[in-house]
Amino acid sequence: MKRMGLPDGHNARMASSVPTTDKAAAKSAPQKAMEKMGLRRDIDLALHLPLRYEDETRLTPIGELRHGQTAQCEGVVRDARVELRPRRQLIVRLQDDSGELVLRFLHFYPSHQKSLAAGARIRARGEVRGGFFGHEMVHPTFKSVDDATPLATSLTPVYPSSAALPQAYLRKAVASGLSRAPLQEVLPPHLVRQGLPSLREALNSLHHPSPHASLADLEDRSSPAWQRLKWEELLAQQISQLMARRERALRRAPPLRAVTSGLPEQLLAALPFQLTGAQQRVVQEIAQDLAGTEPMHRLLQGDVGSGKTVVAALAAAVAIDAGWQCALMAPTEILAEQHFRKLVGWLAPLLEARGQCVAWLTGSVKGKVRQQMMARTASGEAALVVGTQAVIQDSVQFARLGLALIDEQHRFGVAQRLALRHKLEGTADDGTGLEPHLLMMTATPIPRTLAMTYYADLAVSTIDELPPGRTPIVTKVFADSRREAVIAHIREEAAAGRQIYWVCPLIEESEALDLQNATETHQHLSAALDGMMVGLLHGRMTPSEKAAVMSLFSGGQMPVLVSTTVIEVGVDVPNASLMVIEHAERFGLAQLHQLRGRVGRGAAASVCVLLYTPPLSDTGKARLKAMAETNDGFEISRRDLEIRGPGEFMGARQSGDALLRFADLQEDSALLQHARAVAPRLLDEHPSAAAAHVQRWLASRVEYLKA
Ligand code: ADP
Ligand code: MG
Repeated sequence: MKRMGLPDGHNARMASSVPTTDKAAAKSAPQKAMEKMGLRRDIDLALHLPLRYEDETRLTPIGELRHGQTAQCEGVVRDARVELRPRRQLIVRLQDDSGELVLRFLHFYPSHQKSLAAGARIRARGEVRGGFFGHEMVHPTFKSVDDATPLATSLTPVYPSSAALPQAYLRKAVASGLSRAPLQEVLPPHLVRQGLPSLREALNSLHHPSPHASLADLEDRSSPAWQRLKWEELLAQQISQLMARRERALRRAPPLRAVTSGLPEQLLAALPFQLTGAQQRVVQEIAQDLAGTEPMHRLLQGDVGSGKTVVAALAAAVAIDAGWQCALMAPTEILAEQHFRKLVGWLAPLLEARGQCVAWLTGSVKGKVRQQMMARTASGEAALVVGTQAVIQDSVQFARLGLALIDEQHRFGVAQRLALRHKLEGTADDGTGLEPHLLMMTATPIPRTLAMTYYADLAVSTIDELPPGRTPIVTKVFADSRREAVIAHIREEAAAGRQIYWVCPLIEESEALDLQNATETHQHLSAALDGMMVGLLHGRMTPSEKAAVMSLFSGGQMPVLVSTTVIEVGVDVPNASLMVIEHAERFGLAQLHQLRGRVGRGAAASVCVLLYTPPLSDTGKARLKAMAETNDGFEISRRDLEIRGPGEFMGARQSGDALLRFADLQEDSALLQHARAVAPRLLDEHPSAAAAHVQRWLASRVEYLKA
């Protein structure tokens, strides 16, 4: 919204357009905008807090104005005229008993000129500058007043809004939502953190602070009112986590115990390497959960290349050995294929020997083959079912699903994860009352504070050790103008027998553009590296075309591979020692880290070059800096959290709900600890108060928090 001369405060009190909840009436644009922002119920409006405040409670005599100050003055227009030099503008001279002030408008309408005609009594608010004519305000807000027009009695709130939602409209809607919202205290007073105001007092004072409130306190979120809100929010979240945990403890899963010298042992014997200590430890943790009758709900986290796949394979082997089926899922077809190919390669021969098989269920498995895969899944002949979300479609039936594994869980939408659990509840609904165990895997480790809050209901296993023989990767950040120098370096590396990845960004909105980018780079590199084989890999190729290119690259005949992000996960070519990522500024931090993990898998010292195209945004700069400074996945994810904030970090953006709106995990750890301690007492001693509190704060989001 352009900030014209029309005074916000004026509209707030005088506008006649009242937000209506009448369902029959067509929704106005501002109403739609409010719904889009999630402002539906009165309580939603009451919890929509100001970004900042404007002080319209007092008048400053014009003679006392100081340069740089934001102030409100009142006076009579002595003169108003349009001047044409240095450009067309409206110059208004406002006078009170103490002096004169110039109001300057570079954009104005005839209506402005009318309101600001000589003799009009005006209240103007803006930042004071020292101008050629003395003090002036450029584009102040203003309104016409008379001697009796009252001043605001509280600071004027400025709310987060959108272009389609005028501040004045929103202000009015919030004020009426606040007055209607049921804000009675639902918590027993002795469990409320000491020294905090009631919820109603807190909200009233934040929406309409008294003129004596300290703006600094209001804005740095440290006031008791803010503390109350943050504490309430954290409490709601802790209670809902605890409820989810207790609910799960009541459910039953099949105990999965491997037979001695069964499938897991055969798998271990077939592997070309020994498990690291960390891998052995997490395999034990998982096996222990699987052997229990409570459904496992565990997250396996480990840096890129730490060897999560073999751990997943062993978990699958345990489940299959115990006579149950295992489902393996990745968020996209390409990831499913690449990530699980190795795993399937290990397990398939062992399964065949037992008269069992593997079923693939991805989007591209269609028609007869799909029918066959589904039949095998339903009969139980397929001990392992691998794929994408296709696996959780209603039409897919399992005979005995005992374990579900989700890879790259941060890229799986919350809603999909939820669908999965409901799906599994459905499949277990066969009279036995059982449901499957669940293991999620991620290369984006979750910082401890986040794990404590969002994943209180999740057990975490961490692989904190890389397989032996890796060399640290050196990361360099160059502007795209250095491209030719980078290509010269590629020529040297290739001549020395090394291999190179060149990655182009995925442009999500347009597969065609994506392709064009990679194709052009491929042509350019082929020409520049005359005589060398340069391959191209992208998502539109058929699986057999992809396989052909990959086998040339992994076989060592092809020194350079240009690719879109299809190689992000799972590709494993130890001889590759140089990774170039162009338009690195377009990638997320987790994704850059994943990509970089494709090199540094052999003994040769590896380099990752991040090419960017200036100008860089602040977050772009912060991401590239983080990449250059550390190889540690935990540190990367900590910085990612810092740069993006927890809402986006958790993929909450996909579901449209930021999970914590008021509290800050870093700053409010004392409140968090308190809420953690109170949650179980509340749930045990005052279950209906706990339920009312969660309902007020989370309502429709409860299900999401459990996923
Ligand atoms: P990620 O954790 O990123 O999924 P992978 O499971 O793909 O990692 O493992 C990376 C590579 O390391 C693969 O080639 C895998 O076969 C290999 N690997 C895994 N565990 C070990 C180990 N204990 N010793 C040697 N290599 C291993
Ligand atoms: Mg992996």
